[in-house]
Amino acid sequence: MIDLHLHLDGSLNPKNMLWMAEMSGVKLSFTEENELKKQMMVEPDCKNLGDYLEKFDLPLQVLQTKECLEYAVYELLKELQAQGLCYAEIRFAPQLHQQRNLTQKEVVESAVKGLEKAMKEFPIEAQLILCCMRGEANHAENLETVKIAKEFLEKGVCAVDLAGNESAYPTKMFEDVFLLAKEQNVPIIIHAGEAAGAESVEEALACGAVRIGHGIHSIESPELLERLKAEKIYLELCYSSNLQTQAVKNSCEYPLIEFLKKGILVTINTDNMTVSNTSLKREYRLLKETFQLSEEMLLQLAENSVEAAFLPQKKKLKLEQKVKQEFLKWLSTERI
Ligand SMILES: [Zn+2]
Repeated sequence: MIDLHLHLDGSLNPKNMLWMAEMSGVKLSFTEENELKKQMMVEPDCKNLGDYLEKFDLPLQVLQTKECLEYAVYELLKELQAQGLCYAEIRFAPQLHQQRNLTQKEVVESAVKGLEKAMKEFPIEAQLILCCMRGEANHAENLETVKIAKEFLEKGVCAVDLAGNESAYPTKMFEDVFLLAKEQNVPIIIHAGEAAGAESVEEALACGAVRIGHGIHSIESPELLERLKAEKIYLELCYSSNLQTQAVKNSCEYPLIEFLKKGILVTINTDNMTVSNTSLKREYRLLKETFQLSEEMLLQLAENSVEAAFLPQKKKLKLEQKVKQEFLKWLSTERI
């Protein structure tokens, strides 16, 4: 299985978080594992993406040293491999890890170290996506993120992204940041059509996005859907997270089946394993049960993830075999 949309800070497990707090001398307000886990998870009364994003303050307290960043990436990949994943693209925003004066380059170097160590020890492959952040006082930091992504491209990093509060900071504010990415040939993903409408996805495409984080509000525009299909733009759906942030009110409004019927290329992802309290298998299972997806449909979704991965064609072919095998094995256990 493959997860293409997974945030590092939203996927730390509480046990590792306690260890990192000790390692870096951070005093957390919660030191008991279960209590900490509760604090790291989204509240049942989460009203919007803004509320959801508040959950990142706590994990970010510990992700401020080279050692912790390396450890967090390593441990996350160890966990993903144990869950049965064979490839993942993990994302984070280097500029959010500078509270103790690390440079963005040092942040990324440390994360790459953790990535390489895990890939050496476990049968899993992975790459990093560097997020720029929506905001108004961080233009220089966003440009720096693109430059660092270029420096580490194909050396652990595979793309840049735009994350943060979509409704407060429209995508078009960041045009020049992504113009730089385009000039540098760094692949672009943008979180869009999550807390804003189809116009935000259109703006993301204008910025050069080749994949869209969420993109569920694309369903509002038939013209946009045609374009997504024609241009083979992949949508990274994260079902549980989309319900929690109230990007859709309930499962009846979730456009998965319509996307599939219209031939839109969708992939299934977790977004944040800890904040959303989920795993990739759980997401597939939830969708299977909620939308009565056939095994063929589920396999198609898994294969879409292989196609959407930022990997050379040769590697994708190899991965496709592996994913198919593992996926069929998982499906057979699900039937019991
Ligand atoms: Zn996300």
